[in-house]
Amino acid sequence: MKPGTPAVTKMLSFEQALAEVEARLTADGMIPATERVSLGEAWGRALAEDVNADRDYPPFNRSTRDGFAVRSQDVAQADTVLTLDGEVRAGEYFKSEIGPGHCAAIMTGAPLPTGTDAVAMVEYTRTEDDKVRIEKPIASFQNVVRKGSEAQAGQPVLRKGRRLGAGEVGLLASVGKEKVAVYAHPRIAILPTGDEVVPIGRKPEWYQVRNSNSAMLAAVVASAGGTPWEIGIGPDRKEALRNLIVKALEADMLLLSGGVSMGKYDFVEDVLEDLGAEFYFRSVAIRPGKPLVFGRVQGKFFFGLPGNPVSSFVTCNLFARPAISVLTGSGFERPRFLRARLAKSVHHKAGLTTFMPARIDTRDAEPVVSLVGWQGSGDLVGVVEANGFLVVHSEQPSPAAGDWVDVMPMAS
Ligand code: AMP
Ligand code: MG
Repeated sequence: MKPGTPAVTKMLSFEQALAEVEARLTADGMIPATERVSLGEAWGRALAEDVNADRDYPPFNRSTRDGFAVRSQDVAQADTVLTLDGEVRAGEYFKSEIGPGHCAAIMTGAPLPTGTDAVAMVEYTRTEDDKVRIEKPIASFQNVVRKGSEAQAGQPVLRKGRRLGAGEVGLLASVGKEKVAVYAHPRIAILPTGDEVVPIGRKPEWYQVRNSNSAMLAAVVASAGGTPWEIGIGPDRKEALRNLIVKALEADMLLLSGGVSMGKYDFVEDVLEDLGAEFYFRSVAIRPGKPLVFGRVQGKFFFGLPGNPVSSFVTCNLFARPAISVLTGSGFERPRFLRARLAKSVHHKAGLTTFMPARIDTRDAEPVVSLVGWQGSGDLVGVVEANGFLVVHSEQPSPAAGDWVDVMPMAS
């Protein structure tokens, strides 16, 4: 932070900063607008209605095997011989009742005939004319999914706020929802800053860099369920920067990149302050990404992400992505850490929670993590070799080869 900048000097730990973002976003009580979409457009959206089962699931006692539908009390012993009454296929039902000592051939997915309560697998039977020998004893409801055991008519199967993945979409289809209410995409303004940053369509001078952050942040926003809104490139001049930030305030949230460090021309915080911003934190004890800024201006939450592409990427995924997920209506989706074995010892300086680009692979049935050749926070070439991050917590000693360590798989 620059000398003379008021308020909030304390650097938060990674966990504290994440908790701060969660508390601010969830305290807001904002309810996004809703819209109805067809099921084909529902993937990735957050459900805006509770969905109930329209009937019992399964709607009948359903066979899970090809075999013979039996009365279990008839076949409590091995090698019982039953009389075959006929056959029931999936998509049909058996018209009459099966009496004691009788059975019916049945296919997977077919409803059990009245009178029967279990299925003998065809592999353990022998048929001769209209007689079937059941070689093994069969218990009640063996090889059967009972009516209503998955869900009962009228009971909720999916709650409001649930993010719709492939499984949820399948469930919605099975309960007959051709259209479904979902929350509207929040619009997320993306405003990179820096006099050296030029649009990607322009050939940069040798002292300039292309604006890679906007496209990258837009991809993270879209994958989190937001609609990215790219607002040009902010210069390192207060007045022009202010105009662009004012424009960005039309969005639901602002992602700024660059201009939040200690440099003489890092004006992002000054301009936000002039616009009446409240700052919840101005730096976090993480590497990369320490100068991360989070606050609220004129009712809109904003993140001031460091300009270095990898710092921007990491902080956007760690902090902005879960914030966006709140605005999409699916609640605060915390970054998920898993465990893997470390391939090679890593030196860690205590004090900062470190996120190192890494490859997580499965070797000999175990997850193993190894660092990729990465040159620091500007290096996107190194980062694309990675499929996640090795996470070393601030006070954790340097992990050695073979240790179980935290990893964060990369949301692609
Ligand atoms: P800053 O956070 O403004 O000090 O920028 C840190 C580094 O990130 C500098 O080397 C910048 O040139 C680079 N940088 C800033 N913004 C972008 C951007 N939009 N795309 C690519 N690199 C950037
Ligand atoms: Mg800059």
